Amino acid sequence: MSITENVVKLKSTIPSHVKLVVVTKTHPPEKILQVYHAGHRIFGENKVQELLKKQELLPNDIEWHLIGHLQTNKVKKVVPFVHLIHSVDSMKLLKEINKQAEKINRVVNCLLQIHIAREETKFGLSFSEAEEILKSNELTKLNYVRIVGLMGMATLTDDHTQIRKEFRSLKKFYDSIISTHPSFVVLSMGMSSDYYIAIEEGSNLIRVGSLIFGERTYV
Ligand SMILES: *Cc1c(COP(=O)(O)O)cnc(C)c1O
Repeated sequence: MSITENVVKLKSTIPSHVKLVVVTKTHPPEKILQVYHAGHRIFGENKVQELLKKQELLPNDIEWHLIGHLQTNKVKKVVPFVHLIHSVDSMKLLKEINKQAEKINRVVNCLLQIHIAREETKFGLSFSEAEEILKSNELTKLNYVRIVGLMGMATLTDDHTQIRKEFRSLKKFYDSIISTHPSFVVLSMGMSSDYYIAIEEGSNLIRVGSLIFGERTYV
């Protein structure tokens, strides 16, 4: 099947309340344009350099999501255009985003990335660290960032019970927050291998790459 057919098929199988971020990392602009011309506008990159390069080359009405780790020294470059930063994992980073956003009078939407996987290598906050940020006085002073939800990645495993358990724990945490944080509307969880489990467990935004473009080759 073609890239276009893959996107159309995926979109037709997910519920209408679930948004799709097409993850374009490692793929050239020509391939991304195929998805664009099929009518899709929401794309995600995990590296800032690659995001900047593609944002410059591709049409202006694309909604770009940064889904990978963000270093404070690169915040300035993404703040002018990014639609949603999925990977906020410290107060320090939030403050820098706020500082750069204030300079250009733009409010930047962010998700707190929560560590739910077993792997130690993945970035993210614990539930209690996230709670601390959400309850902090400092946050009330950051008028140029809006935390609109949470992001999480499950363990890379074939054990569906484990994956489901991890997504379920994040949904439970998300639900515990929404009553006090009405700005919370996004629960970003699920990738090519586990998006259907994520949706069953309450995700409303999935980030899918290889299912659409095929396996990535890193050079
Ligand atoms: C690469 C990536 C994805 C998409 O992964 P696929 O398995 O290709 O669907 C989703 N989320 C993040 C944070 C990623 O880095």
